[in-house]
Amino acid sequence: MAATAERSVVEAVPRRLLIGGDWVDPTSGATLPVEDPSTGETIVEVADAGPEEARQALAAAADAQESWAATPARERGEILRRAFELITSRVDDLALLMTLEMGKPISHSRAEVAYGAEFFRWFSEEAVRVAGRYLPAPDGRGRILTMRQPVGPCLLVTPWNFPMAMGTRKIGPAVAAGCTMVIKPAGLTPLSMLELARILTEAGLPPGVLNVLTTSSSGSATAPLFDDPRLRKVSFTGSTEVGRKLLEQAAGRVLRVSMELGGNAPFIVFEDADLDAAVEGAVVAKMRNVGEACTAANRFHVAAPVAAEFTERLAARIGAMKVGRGTDESVEVGPLVDEATRSKVEELVDDARARGARPVVGGTRSDGRGYFFQPTVLADVPPDARLLREEIFGPVAPVVPFEGEDQAVAAANDTEFGLVAYVYTRDLRRAFRVVERLESGMVGLNRGMVSNPAAPFGGVKQSGLGREGGFEGIDEYLETKYVAIDL
Ligand code: NAP
Ligand code: MG
Repeated sequence: MAATAERSVVEAVPRRLLIGGDWVDPTSGATLPVEDPSTGETIVEVADAGPEEARQALAAAADAQESWAATPARERGEILRRAFELITSRVDDLALLMTLEMGKPISHSRAEVAYGAEFFRWFSEEAVRVAGRYLPAPDGRGRILTMRQPVGPCLLVTPWNFPMAMGTRKIGPAVAAGCTMVIKPAGLTPLSMLELARILTEAGLPPGVLNVLTTSSSGSATAPLFDDPRLRKVSFTGSTEVGRKLLEQAAGRVLRVSMELGGNAPFIVFEDADLDAAVEGAVVAKMRNVGEACTAANRFHVAAPVAAEFTERLAARIGAMKVGRGTDESVEVGPLVDEATRSKVEELVDDARARGARPVVGGTRSDGRGYFFQPTVLADVPPDARLLREEIFGPVAPVVPFEGEDQAVAAANDTEFGLVAYVYTRDLRRAFRVVERLESGMVGLNRGMVSNPAAPFGGVKQSGLGREGGFEGIDEYLETKYVAIDL
């Protein structure tokens, strides 16, 4: 029964490229295997695009741009709204598909599908609120008029860790603003995006507005687009390393860019915190998505007087979580996405142990099939351990004690990243003092999760440029034109 359901959701997914409204095969006929990370087995093969298909996709987007920009905002919004309804009515199938290609527990996949759909609802509402302004020039001798227009054809590149929501967070505002696009999902998880494209087509999105490229050679396939004058913008979510590369490529033709990059989130617990709430928040901030989130708490800075108790309680909670194949409803921790991700987690844990860190629970990879790693809590983590500086992207929680507010803030900010920080305290004045001093684009105050379609998501420092979601999200897809008027 379960295997039949799995087969039928996989078989229903389009496996070809979406270009100009048609599902097409690449001329090479090449395909790319998609694996189930809980078994390491290939579940299906999808089209593997090269530079030629990328050019065709951009041509289709460019051809559709003018009429799409002229389509009434209400119509564009209603397509998003219908897509929101369709996704919502198919949450279970979409979640199963996501768990199969990515590994996260099915409950996490359902949460992502719901979260991802909300970007379509939010931007369906924002589509009709794009406005300019009219004002007298200060010297009284003229008028200032501004209008907001779509940027034009965009390249959208998304990661594997949230295969649907990282797409809807870009597609939603691009559709609302009147931009056409070429989207390139991660090679590890193309299925959720292909299914999403099918839903958008069903919702009435015209041919050419959204073009989908799945590829095993993301660099060489997308490189020619950066030299093509028809491309106007790149929006990327992924690692800082790749983001930097795309920024360099974008510099050639001074493209608009949005970058949602890596993180190294500190989770700070003061001695006056509600410890029950802090432990619950820590479990969410660490274990959501098996720790494979840019917002994942990467390091726990805990006030010395409560550090031992916090560590013990966190270890008890994390150590009791059920590990297994994500399709099982009772599983709380799935496999990591691939062997490379698991080996990196293992390397960081081994490095910390070699420097004196002590596993309170877990600490090693799991035996058997699939890319599993044991949920881990590390105590006595020395300041030079690599996992305090690098993104862990796995179910590993290092705890480091601190003495006083200044030390906590200094430790939290001691990173080139600045996506999110978490703070637990019951002292209102301390809360705001610390929030103001933290160098991050987002703060979770007595909360282990910040993501919300109505809020501006994004980072400072090397965590990115621009914001997604909120009132800010649509700005990334609009240009301002100023008209000087002589009365
Ligand atoms: P990644 O390796 O940077 O890949 C991200 C995307 O870029 C994938 O689609 C990838 O395709 C593609 N890509 C890689 N090299 C490229 C190139 N030279 N040209 C064009 N595209 C290229 O990141 P990931 O491992 O998928 O995702 C994990 C990272 O994403 C973490 O660092 C995490 O913090 C970050 N992230 C950030 C946010 C945020 O909002 N700030 C959200 C989620 C994740 P292939 O993989 O198929 O090559
Ligand atoms: Mg996979």
